[in-house]
Amino acid sequence: MLMSDQEKYNIKKSDEDWKEELSAEEFEITRLKGTERPFSNKYWDFKDKGIYNCRCCGNPLFDSETKFDSGTGWPSFYDSIKKDAINTIMDTKFGMIRTEAVCKNCGAHLGHIFNDGPAPTGMRFCMNSASLKFEPQG
Ligand SMILES: [Zn+2]
Repeated sequence: MLMSDQEKYNIKKSDEDWKEELSAEEFEITRLKGTERPFSNKYWDFKDKGIYNCRCCGNPLFDSETKFDSGTGWPSFYDSIKKDAINTIMDTKFGMIRTEAVCKNCGAHLGHIFNDGPAPTGMRFCMNSASLKFEPQG
């Protein structure tokens, strides 16, 4: 991510700082907008109750109550934990128009949002496990 992009967020760290805190895969996905492989990531089939926080800054993003089996092989949610947890950006890479989801606090790339999810929102937040850190509750 360019520093000029990073300026918009509360958390301002250089790529060198992030590299020290993240694994190589986490850095590639969260800071360089990569995508992990489906069905071989940490949370796609994970069903414990708790909160999914941003891997980079700990910002709460999703409640396990809104997680559903999308069949895609990535952790999928039909809503975020609160309205201002996530920023959306229009992504036109690969000749498609998609809605990219980033952490509103630190700008971490999380995944994409589609409008083919279940009720009550009809939305599908298709996330990378590497962008999330699960915190058990209850
Ligand atoms: Zn974050």
